[in-house]
Amino acid sequence: MTAILLRGNSPVFAGDLTQMGHVFFPGEAFAVWVPGSSPSPAGAVEWQVDLTATPDPVSGCASAATRPWRVEVTARGPCGERRAEGGLLQDAAESPRTFEHRLRRLAKGLLIDALAPLAGFRPKWGILTGVRPTKLVHQMLDEGEPDPVTRLTGEYRLAPEKAELLTGVARLQRPFLGRDPRAVSLYIGIPFCPSICSFCSFSIYPINQYRGQVSPFLQALGREMAIIGEAIRALGLRVESIYFGGGTPTSPRDDDFAHMLRMAEEHLLKGQAPAEYTMEGGRPETFNRAKLDAMAAAGVNRVSVNPQTTVQATLMHLGRIHTVEKFYRAYELVRAHPAGFTVNTDIIIGLPGEGPAEVHHTLADMRRLAPDNLTVHTLAVKRGSRIHGEGEAGQVLRALTPAEAEALVQDAAETARAMGQRPYYLYRQKFMVGALENVGYALPGKESVYNIQMMEERQTVIGLGGGATSKWFKPLGQNRGWLLKAPANPNDPQTYVERVEELARRKVAHLRLLYGE
Ligand code: SF4
Repeated sequence: MTAILLRGNSPVFAGDLTQMGHVFFPGEAFAVWVPGSSPSPAGAVEWQVDLTATPDPVSGCASAATRPWRVEVTARGPCGERRAEGGLLQDAAESPRTFEHRLRRLAKGLLIDALAPLAGFRPKWGILTGVRPTKLVHQMLDEGEPDPVTRLTGEYRLAPEKAELLTGVARLQRPFLGRDPRAVSLYIGIPFCPSICSFCSFSIYPINQYRGQVSPFLQALGREMAIIGEAIRALGLRVESIYFGGGTPTSPRDDDFAHMLRMAEEHLLKGQAPAEYTMEGGRPETFNRAKLDAMAAAGVNRVSVNPQTTVQATLMHLGRIHTVEKFYRAYELVRAHPAGFTVNTDIIIGLPGEGPAEVHHTLADMRRLAPDNLTVHTLAVKRGSRIHGEGEAGQVLRALTPAEAEALVQDAAETARAMGQRPYYLYRQKFMVGALENVGYALPGKESVYNIQMMEERQTVIGLGGGATSKWFKPLGQNRGWLLKAPANPNDPQTYVERVEELARRKVAHLRLLYGE
C-alpha cells in the first residue's frame, strides 16, 4: 500500500506534484500519478491529493480571444479534507508555454492552500522550489515591477519574511551585476580533503590515500591554467574574482600549495588585479602560517575557515578529523595574519544529532569570533552522501520539525544582524531540513563578489580543476543575456590528468565564441 498518493489530470503536473510531495512529506515515500504513468496505486491511502485543471464549461463571459480554466485541488489526510480552487484565462495571443507556466503556478499555489491546513505546516518558500529564487526577483526588477514582495506573497505564496529577505538580497546585489561585459570569474576545484564528511555528496578524494595523485593533478592544473590564461589575455577579459574551492584546496602539502598559487599567479592572473581572491580552506586542520604567508604573497584577500559546528561530538560523528580547538586556533591564525584577510565561516543547521542547544552553542561562538562573513547552511541530504547511503536520510531530515528548523534559521539571522551583517546571497537545495535556505551574510562592503556572480549567473565563470563547472554567459545589455552550463571537468584526478588538454581547448573555443578575438 502507498500511504501517500498525489494525482493530477495532466502529465504537465507530474514535476509539481513531486516537488510538493517532497515539501510536505520530506524523507517519506509517496507516489505521483498522472495520465500515462503506470497504473494508479490501488487500496487505501493515508493521504490523497487530486489536482484537476479543466477548461471551464459554465462560464459564459469569455470572449473569443480568451478561454477560462478552472483548477481544483482536493486533499484528504488523517485530519480531514480540504479543497482549494481558482481560475485563469488563457489568452489566445499567449504562447502555450507561457500559459502552461501560469497554469502550473496557480496549481502549485492551490496545492499549498489545500495541503497546508491539513499538514499543519505552510512552506515558507511557497511554490518556489528552485535553487536560485533571487533570479525571479531580478527578473521582476528588470521588468520594472515596483513591488516584488506583494507578488511573492500572493502569487507565489511566500511567507512575508521570506519575500522581504529575497527582495532585500536581490536589491543589494543589483549594483554588482552587469557592470562590465568583459569581466569573468574563475573557479578552481581541488578534489582532495583530509577525510570525507558524512553529509558530503561531492566526489572527493581523501588526500592521504591519494597522495600519489596530487603532483600529477597539480601539473595538469598548471597546464589548464596556462591554456585558459593565454585565452583570457588574448580576448582582453578582466578577471573580477578568483575562487579556490573543492574539496579543500588547502589540503596539499605546504610546498605543493605554494606552487599551486604561483602557477595561478603566473599563468592565470598575469596583468590582472582581481577585486576578490578567495581560498575556501574549509578544513581548519589544513591551515598553518606557511600557507597563509603563501596566500598573502599571491594576493588572496578572502579566506574561509569552516567549522560547520563547534560541538565536538558532532564533528566526530560527521567524520571530520579536526577538533573544535583546532578550529579556534586556525581562525585566530587567519585573523591575526598581517594580510588582514576577509574571513568567512560556514555553519550548518540540522546536522545529525544536533538540536537547538547545539546550534545555539555554535552561534554563540560565531558571535564571539565575529567573522566578516557568516554563511548559514541548512543541511541538505543528497544522494552520494554517506548519510543517504546508510539510509539515514529520512531520520536526519525529520530530526528537527520545520518549525524548529525555521526558528534556528531565524536565530542565525539574528546572530548575523547582531554582528552588523546583512544577507547578500541566498540559494536553496533539494532535500533540505525544513525546506529552508542557505544564506550568506556579510558586513557592508565585505560581500563576496564571486558568490554573487556564481549564484545569479549573469557573468561567465570559467571552471578549472577537478569537478569544476563552467558557465558561459553572453551579455546582451540591460542585464539580459544567454547562459550555457558546460559539462563539469571530471572529478577523478586521473581522468582529469588524461583529459586536461582537450577540456581546456574546448573551453577556449567557447570563450572565443562568446567574446570574439
Ligand atoms: S570538507 Fe567539504 S568537500 Fe571536504 S568532505 Fe567535507 S563537506 Fe566534502
